Amino acid sequence: MKFISYLRGEAFQRGVHPPSSKMTAQMKIRRLPFPPKVTVPLSQHIGKVPRPVVRVGQEVVRGQPIAHTEDWLSVPHHAPVTGVVEFIGLRPSARGPWVESIVIRAYPGATQEDLWGQPRDLSTANGSEILQAIWDTGMVGLGGAAFPTHAKLTVPKQAHVHTLVVNGCECEPYLTCDHRVMVEQADDLVTGIRYGMRATGAVRTIVGIEDNKPDALVAIDAAIKRAGVVPEGEIHAELVPTKYPQGSEKMLVMALFGVEIPAGSLPVALGMVVNNVGTLAALGQLLPAGRGLTERVVTITGPGVARPGDYIVPIGTPLRFVLDYAGAPAESHQVILGGPMMGQAIASLDVPVTKGVSGVLVFRKEDMESREVLNTYPCIKCGECVESCPMGLNPSTLGLLAAKREYEMMGDNFHLGECFECGCCTYVCPSNIPLVQQFRVAKQVLRERAAA
Ligand code: SF4
Ligand code: SF4
Repeated sequence: MKFISYLRGEAFQRGVHPPSSKMTAQMKIRRLPFPPKVTVPLSQHIGKVPRPVVRVGQEVVRGQPIAHTEDWLSVPHHAPVTGVVEFIGLRPSARGPWVESIVIRAYPGATQEDLWGQPRDLSTANGSEILQAIWDTGMVGLGGAAFPTHAKLTVPKQAHVHTLVVNGCECEPYLTCDHRVMVEQADDLVTGIRYGMRATGAVRTIVGIEDNKPDALVAIDAAIKRAGVVPEGEIHAELVPTKYPQGSEKMLVMALFGVEIPAGSLPVALGMVVNNVGTLAALGQLLPAGRGLTERVVTITGPGVARPGDYIVPIGTPLRFVLDYAGAPAESHQVILGGPMMGQAIASLDVPVTKGVSGVLVFRKEDMESREVLNTYPCIKCGECVESCPMGLNPSTLGLLAAKREYEMMGDNFHLGECFECGCCTYVCPSNIPLVQQFRVAKQVLRERAAA
């Protein structure tokens, strides 16, 4: 099986090859200092908003639960710092609207060790007990989707999962946090994989890694050997050709197995569950320690950053603090959360790092001008966007319909719902038409009309 997908050459149809710009790929993960205050937004994922279980003025220790939920599609939150709760109420978020948040002032002299968690023995735990333990950690997909991990690993009653697919592609330019986690935390990753297999009932695991990260393959192979016997089944890592958007579930399954997930279906329809390397490595650390998620690895990079790198950042750290430490100029022209293809440009630095933030990219004005993306022009019907769309859509027509606000027609006749906002069409468009941005607006309008 090993290298079959690699030898297949073309991993999936269409897609693009943007410059990787992964300038932090060989830098070791470093820890960011603790900020004076953290702001934990309670709404960081789908599902009901968790409710605070602390009050203003209360002392909290790092790792202590601060927000609880009984909704299966939601997760609890834990104090990222030892300190005192200073405020509970609305604060700005990267998504735009102000959201209910808990602000904690860190004690300057505190050790900031995790003082709450109790090591737990899960060696005899069954699948549902492991899922409950994952829920207790407050884990969501650290690849950027921020979907609650226990829900993602829950197999529907009628379904059967045989394979856990681990996504180590990190195909977005600039981002290297998953790469560094694979190299430096490979043992934790294998531990997390074993929990994931027991939670889902999978009998084998395949870690898909793009071939621009051969050191990650070496590290994971060594960790699998160190782990010795794997009673749950076989775990192995495999290279796939580097190509964007390989990190999407559909593309990765196609690259590894040569099979297509049917439109409107999830990988579980083919007996697979896909999870990200960062998420599983974090579970490998947190579950045996009985701790909650209080920090994550974030790539802080871009031409506007003097000290780029992959940093361990406490959840809730203000972006302004992060960028000051990394040496980004105050007049940064554009800051993007996530990668340049699927990330989100933000208007204010007064928002916190949340569980789903994998990267912070900083561009100066001259960087944007050199990329000639400041002006847009009419569609010249060149067809480049159609050639690039991995879902086989017609972004040109969708873009024309979006300009006329024909949103229903986009959904009903041109499969807008199949667009997963990879940004390939926008990337190749010589007219600089912000296609994917238009599609996001169209989808949002359709969602709101459906809910009305
Ligand atoms: S239409 Fe959607 S799926 Fe297709 S290239 Fe554009 S953003 Fe990607
Ligand atoms: S790439 Fe841009 S200019 Fe070319 S057909 Fe698509 S939308 Fe039109």
